Amino acid sequence: MLCLTLTGSSLDEDAHILERNRNYISMAELRLDALDASELPAAKDFPRRAGLPLILTFRRKADGGLRSVPEKKRIAFLADAAQGGYAYVDLEGDLRKADLRYEKEGARHDLEADLKARGVKIIRSFHDFKSVPDNIYDLIVKLSKGGAIPKVAVTPHSVADVITLFRVKKEIPLIKDMIVVGMGDWGVCTRILYKRIGSMLSYCCDSSSGIGQIDAKTMKTLYHADEVDERTHIYGVIGNPVLHSSSPQIHNPAFRAIHYNAIYVPFLVDDVRPFLRLAEMIQIHGFSVTIPHKRAIIPYIGHLPREVMKIGACNTVVHTARMWRGTNTDYYAFLSLVRSDIESGRIKSALVIGAGGAARAVVFALRNNLIPVTIVNRTAEHAQYLARETLSSWDTLENTPKYAGKVDLVVNTTSVGMVPDEDGDASMGFPFTGKEVAFDFVYKPRETVFLKKAEAAGCRCIHGADQLLEQGKLQFEEFSGYHYPPQIHPEIGG
Ligand code: NAP
Repeated sequence: MLCLTLTGSSLDEDAHILERNRNYISMAELRLDALDASELPAAKDFPRRAGLPLILTFRRKADGGLRSVPEKKRIAFLADAAQGGYAYVDLEGDLRKADLRYEKEGARHDLEADLKARGVKIIRSFHDFKSVPDNIYDLIVKLSKGGAIPKVAVTPHSVADVITLFRVKKEIPLIKDMIVVGMGDWGVCTRILYKRIGSMLSYCCDSSSGIGQIDAKTMKTLYHADEVDERTHIYGVIGNPVLHSSSPQIHNPAFRAIHYNAIYVPFLVDDVRPFLRLAEMIQIHGFSVTIPHKRAIIPYIGHLPREVMKIGACNTVVHTARMWRGTNTDYYAFLSLVRSDIESGRIKSALVIGAGGAARAVVFALRNNLIPVTIVNRTAEHAQYLARETLSSWDTLENTPKYAGKVDLVVNTTSVGMVPDEDGDASMGFPFTGKEVAFDFVYKPRETVFLKKAEAAGCRCIHGADQLLEQGKLQFEEFSGYHYPPQIHPEIGG
């Protein structure tokens, strides 16, 4: 179940948010602590307005709640609202029996007993905003005592922590209904793959505004997270950072278009070694690799094409029966975008700006097609090193303009001009003559300062977004064995 968290300051606002997301969710959580005090008495009528199962929660300030209320009052507010038809009520796991007693009309009541008598399911929750506790499995068992649904919302900070969360189902197979939430950026993969960690639901928000939050529309229409089952093949992208990646937009709609029961998820990864352990544990079928792991992944790959071995950077990994097989679709995508210009003789020489991972794929691709290359780079030694490996020339970045009129292809492989540095000009004042093919690896924004200058001079321009899509299409073929569906046009670059 996808559960929308409602944190409006009024019930009308919550009803509005619910309506906006109704098609994406199957339940919602009403957060009393977000409501203005004047709204609280009407909270018991909200289930009637909502028309879907609701969790009632009054989060304490210490557990991430939005207001501070004396404890007795908080329980009384919860008890009052719970008179409405809420399907679940969330009570913190450390509340004792005595804490759940409240007074109403002069009589003493027991909230837990009241809820049980009315068939309302009780969630017993635990929050940790700093870590994943060592005793998380024991904690879940303890929270489930008395027939409650245990809920743990914890904060992973490494792949090792994420592995701990993916082990929950195996460690505690007997508890069928539980809620496990990995908070923050590291938890994103656990929130999307919530069914694989054994959680009965995943919380989502109206529009993503915070760390690690995923909005309901993305959960439902991009990931189809609620449709993941035991047979779903898992793919993903590893990197650090990784949550900005456009690759989920490339792969998820395409999997769906070919009716392949598969999902593509971003995995924030600090170290490739534990990630490969996770990959084997949850049977990841393949993954894309982005900064900074393209080189570090190579020792773990059983088979790499010779040219990819030479480049020393791998961006695609596929699981085969006995090993991980790797390739570099940046290399092949780049070649496919310039091949006709090389074959027609339009490109006979090239200037490559940058000497990092992308530059390596570009320079090797050009040199393997016998195109002479000059590399210019901010750090001259990096240019020099790549030039030596590829029998190319090199120069300092400041000398870029002196190659005007002498090269047919100018490729920017630096991150200059990439958001948030949209005003950055990677061309270093290179005066385009209009005869060059200009190729920018930066994909956000689509029209960079570099390409705007080239276009104004009359150059043929190749966009970073086209390169990104092309390399993604080749990855899709590696992952699925099918051509990328022509009817899918992912929006990347913006
Ligand atoms: P990388 O290995 O970190 O290399 C970065 C390169 O940019 C280095 O040559 C670096 O020079 C240079 N650089 C960084 N900041 C600079 C600055 N302020 N001024 C001048 N030069 C600067 O990264 P990468 O993997 O090659 O990626 C480079 C860019 O290409 C990124 O923006 C990435 O998103 C993009 N990319 C796009 C695609 C696509 O499909 N469109 C694919 C791969 C990469 P130093 O050597 O001096 O540090």
